[in-house]
This record gives sequence, structure tokens and C-alpha cells, in this order.
Amino acid sequence: MPDPQLLYIVTAVVVLGLVAWVIVVLARPEKPESKDEPRALPPEPSADAPKLDVKIHLPDRQKQRLHSHAEIHDEPNAAAPQSSLPGEQEEDDGPTGPNALILVTAVGLTDPGLKRKHNEDAYAILEDHQLFVIADGMGRHAAGEVASRLCVDAISEAFRTASFGPPREPPLPRRAARLRGATLLANERILAAAAENDAYSGMGTTVVSAYFSANNQRVYIAHVGDSRCYRLRARKLTQLTRDHTLGAAGIQGKSAAVLSRAIGVEPAVEVDVQVESPLPGDVYLLCSDGLSRMVAAEEIEATLLSTPDLDVATKTLTDLANRGGGRDNITVILVRVDDAKPSSP
Ligand code: CA
Repeated sequence: MPDPQLLYIVTAVVVLGLVAWVIVVLARPEKPESKDEPRALPPEPSADAPKLDVKIHLPDRQKQRLHSHAEIHDEPNAAAPQSSLPGEQEEDDGPTGPNALILVTAVGLTDPGLKRKHNEDAYAILEDHQLFVIADGMGRHAAGEVASRLCVDAISEAFRTASFGPPREPPLPRRAARLRGATLLANERILAAAAENDAYSGMGTTVVSAYFSANNQRVYIAHVGDSRCYRLRARKLTQLTRDHTLGAAGIQGKSAAVLSRAIGVEPAVEVDVQVESPLPGDVYLLCSDGLSRMVAAEEIEATLLSTPDLDVATKTLTDLANRGGGRDNITVILVRVDDAKPSSP
């Protein structure tokens, strides 16, 4: 017979052991849970974070699709004929008479501003073609200068040689199609230069251009990015272009100024083209953001109203931009429209 006292001790030890085991087993699940909790947290923020990242990086001069809705306002796209027959496009463009109906006079000026060593803006005035172009480049080191110069030169060359590249979709009136074609050739030229030289990779540029047709009294305005075209008519300044920026797409904060489209960044880029009927007395203003960010539209309007001389007005506007901080390169082209009749023989 076992000793009852020994049996009692053994039983007590077994019970205590069981109690200890239960405590250990109960305590154990808490540890895995506390490990799982932090693991469970990341999926939530990481589900949000990529979204924020995408929003910030999307427009980083790369993705245009997000902003395709901005195309809705494009008059020429809406006005483009269903048929791509050249005759119909020309008809839609308005009848072209034998005589000039308007006379355009232009002055351009660029200024590096007060803060930047380089001037990454470029512009061209092609009086023979009544074509006016401003490009505002960006890139590492001085690649922005290269991009804007390539852009302006490629567009100029297209008009000088009457080589506007292959037919593009959607069909546009002939002169609008020329301007778009020239702009797309500039896009290809910059991409090719960037592919050839590592120092140029990632460069790009904005562009705004105005192409006047005196004989059918039209102006074709093309733009990509945040370089702008304004029109002064009946003493009122109107911004004709809408910036391709995040801000214009409704994004607020620091990234609002980030471009949603640029020339020379991707093989495909949408070029906004609009057609206007210029009237004698109109003044068209093309500018880089070095003017429009430094000088309020009301002040630009007041300057144009008080300064009929185009040379003086371009100088006054760049001076105002420098007085407003001159944080960026400033480029201005002013085009005055006059009635052609007084100068006709
Ligand atoms: Ca600029």
C-alpha cells in the first residue's frame, strides 16, 4: 500500500503542474495575437499609401490618361468633322479668301529672372508664317534649356519645310492639324535626344503656340503644360488656355503646380488645339509661368491697356515679374491684331 501522505503530495504536485500548464497554455495565445496586431496594421496604411503615392507621382510628367477629361473643352476636337476628307476639313476651317483680312505684329522678350542661373525658356517668332511659340523646359542640370530649344526649333522647322509628319487622329482642320503635327514632331525630337544622351534623360518642356491665318481670320492655339495664352479684347483679359497641371485637375497643395502633361516625356502626348477668330484690336499674350505666377492677371490686363506699344509692354511685364520675385525665367510674346485694309494698296 502506498503511503497516503506520499499520495497526497504526489496528487498536489500533479494538480499544481496541471494548473501551471493551463496558465502557460492560456498565456500563449496572447503572444501570437500581439505579434499579429502590428502585422495586421500595415495592410491598412499600405492600402492607402500607394494611392497617395500614385496621385503624387502620376502626373510627374508621365501620365496623361488621368487628365483625358480635360480634352472635353477642346473646341477643335468637338468641331472636328466626322469625315477626314481634306476638303471637308478645309471647309470647317472657314473659307480662305485671296486677301489678308488681318495684320499681326509681334514682339517677344525673354528674361532669366532674378533667381535662376539658366534661362530654360525658349521662344520663336516666325513672321513669314505668323507663328509664335514659347517653350519652358525642365530637366536635370541644364537639360531644360535643351528641351525647350529643341521644341521651338522643331516646330519652326516643321513650318519652314512644310513637313508636319504623318496624318494623326482625330482629324482636325488643316491648320490646326499642322500645328498639332509640328508639336508632336517636337515631342519625338526631344524623346530621341533624351534616348541618345543620358544627361538629357527625363527632360521635357511645356509649349504654347499661336498660328495666325490672316486670309481666313483665324488663330490656332496649341498648348501642352502650363505656358499660357491670354487674349485682350474689349479691354478685358481672358485666359484662353487651361493649364495641364494637377491643380487644374482639382488637386490641392504643393503638388498642384506639378505638370500633368509635357512635351518630350512620353511617345504619346495629347496636344490641346483651339481655334479663335481674332478681331482687329485684339492683343494675344503668350507667356511662360515665370510671368503668370509672378504677376496677377489684373495687373497684366492693366499693363496691356495702359501700354499700347508692344516693345514697351513686353519690357514692363518682365519688369513686373521680377518685381514680383523673379523666381523663374520669364518669357512673353505679344501679338497685336490690326485690320489689314488700311495697309492694303
Ligand atoms: Ca518656368
